[in-house]
Amino acid sequence: MTSSTTPHPVAAETISYLMKAAFLSEQRVLTDLALHAGLLWRCVCKEVNTLYAYRCGGCGEQRLWTKDVTPTRYNGTLLEDLRSALAKWFNDRPRARRPAAISFRVTTVNDDGPARATWGVTACFTDSPDGKACKDVFERSFVADALVEIGAFDQPQTGDTLRVIIPPPLTPDRTTEYTYVIGEYAHEAARVLGEGWDSESGYIGAYGKLWGPGTPTLRVYVDHDDDLVVALDDDADPMRFTVDLPNGAPTRPDELRAAAADIAEIIRANYL
Ligand SMILES: [Zn+2]
Repeated sequence: MTSSTTPHPVAAETISYLMKAAFLSEQRVLTDLALHAGLLWRCVCKEVNTLYAYRCGGCGEQRLWTKDVTPTRYNGTLLEDLRSALAKWFNDRPRARRPAAISFRVTTVNDDGPARATWGVTACFTDSPDGKACKDVFERSFVADALVEIGAFDQPQTGDTLRVIIPPPLTPDRTTEYTYVIGEYAHEAARVLGEGWDSESGYIGAYGKLWGPGTPTLRVYVDHDDDLVVALDDDADPMRFTVDLPNGAPTRPDELRAAAADIAEIIRANYL
């Protein structure tokens, strides 16, 4: 599923690359550092897992703290502003153990009614079902600004939960909405189709062309109905086949490969 809380491949693969380069003794140090920085996650059972693992490889339990918890009325954009501010806060403090989520409580000490406190927040870690009191005070920070904006949109009620997932470091900010351009779908589909297949990206990656032994050139693009389709590159042929993306746009190599496998299957069924 594509969302701002999905771990980005850069975060997951940086550590995996360093691990391959490291000696055993270095791997232990790297593991500790990566757990601290949020580039790996430790389960309640103590097993260490990669960011791609939604379930623990040791005990099979789901990773803790993978979803935001908000009051029913909330504004998605303001929530993303808060998430960006929290990510920046921890990006600027790499020595601090990076939590998986931060939970804010509601205070009534202000004169102007209940408000979300910038102090006394709870840090949530993947190896503990209970949060830990966080010493950080977010006063006069982007986090505080974002909380004020959210409060202005939706006055907090006593007892409200606002728990926000913090993306791992090296996760691009949400301005990068899509991980792959369409040209990459075509490249990957050519790889799936194998021997003799080749591909090229169209203008700024907005579409991709691919061709193989004995086939006319095919095009992968988004049509006027906002569907991802496969068609002959020759505009004269009106036939096109929709590629289903039930989980949205791919954000990880394995998801891109799955979409490419679907494209390859459409090509095999209709053009070979
Ligand atoms: Zn476990």
